[in-house]
Amino acid sequence: MDDLSLGAVEWAIRHSMTAEQCVRIERLARATAASQALEALIGEKVVDLTASRRCPHCGAVGVVKHGLDDNGQQRFRCRPPLGCGRTFNALTRTPLARMRKPEIWLAYAEALGERRSLDWIHAHLGIARLTAWRWRHRLLAPLTLQPAPMLSGIVEADEAYFLRSFKGHRGWKNGAPPENRPPRYRGSGAVKRGLSSEQVPVVTALDRVGGLVEVVLEERRDEEIITAPIQSWLKRPPASIAPSNLSSRPPNRKPAACPGAVPAF
Ligand SMILES: [Zn+2]
Repeated sequence: MDDLSLGAVEWAIRHSMTAEQCVRIERLARATAASQALEALIGEKVVDLTASRRCPHCGAVGVVKHGLDDNGQQRFRCRPPLGCGRTFNALTRTPLARMRKPEIWLAYAEALGERRSLDWIHAHLGIARLTAWRWRHRLLAPLTLQPAPMLSGIVEADEAYFLRSFKGHRGWKNGAPPENRPPRYRGSGAVKRGLSSEQVPVVTALDRVGGLVEVVLEERRDEEIITAPIQSWLKRPPASIAPSNLSSRPPNRKPAACPGAVPAF
């Protein structure tokens, strides 16, 4: 589209479109941009595959182009006898393989990042709740297999307490309760006042580039050893950790930066 036509579209959007039409245009523009970004990503993957010629199924080197699949995507074939003989495309063995509606994948990923509910995704992206739920598991499954992230630079740590839950424990019914206390209703508070063994401490540590680690502790710990459980996620010694509740920090402790520390992701 040339600049003159684009100007006419912009003028129409500003001066003669209703709010509903603007929303339609916004959705169309988002979907189109997402499709084009996705095509670029797939194009990069095709270039990589063409260069490496490595089969994602068996790892053999020597795959060849094998026409287009039903969606118009480049297909490859792993040539026997050295290879497995199977065909694949750029998305094979990725979470996106065989997923439909590619035009809303990126919008879905955004919604996932914003922790939107399935109801919200259903209403705004127009996919069924079950589909949204399946996609979420598909996209998040690989993350659970990845090693824990490393924290670097200035790391802030704090602990929070959650009530220990034995919801559904059969001991409540057969007279052997898991804790020495009566069962409680959802949303009700602890039996004992203040911090006690009824609460589970959870340490949350984050650095300045978005790295986040959460660790569940066995028991209450004081501030000095709050950092111990997250040592394995740190690139530097504990001097780089700053408790985020600064008011309770001893005056001689200062958060120390790690010059030159590089984020792991
Ligand atoms: Zn193969």
